[in-house]
Amino acid sequence: MGGPELLILFAILLLFVGASRLPKLARSMGQSKKEFHKGLKEDQSAEGPCPFCGVEVAEEAKFCPGCGKSAEEIIAEKKVTSA
Ligand SMILES: [Zn+2]
Repeated sequence: MGGPELLILFAILLLFVGASRLPKLARSMGQSKKEFHKGLKEDQSAEGPCPFCGVEVAEEAKFCPGCGKSAEEIIAEKKVTSA
């Protein structure tokens, strides 16, 4: 066996190992991305009872239907009360 054959063998081995590892890698990457988005969403959603008036606020709502506070104010107030 000469140099080129070894190189080809190495390339095949690398391809094989890489191919078997790729799905796992992609899955773990997708999972962390999902977790990241989940955390981001939880952090930025005003969904749930309004901390100012107690009225249920929809997940995508920009303002509270009860007191008119903005989603940003509700999220900030929730952080204060839950901390
Ligand atoms: Zn409110």
